Amino acid sequence: MVTPETLAELVEGERPMDAEPIQDADFECPDCGENVIQVGYMPSVTEFVTAYKCQECDWADDDRDE
Ligand SMILES: [Zn+2]
Repeated sequence: MVTPETLAELVEGERPMDAEPIQDADFECPDCGENVIQVGYMPSVTEFVTAYKCQECDWADDDRDE
């Protein structure tokens, strides 16, 4: 079972300070068209990021402005 913390860690590479419940993202995976889930988390006290992860393949992204 994927928890918000482990999902955020998967996308971020580090365990977040805090994470919100996992939700369905309202779009499909750009690579395979399958369901995408999202999780909001705080990698640090001053930052809040929403990460997206496909449930079927390795596609993942976040909403950081880079
Ligand atoms: Zn996919």
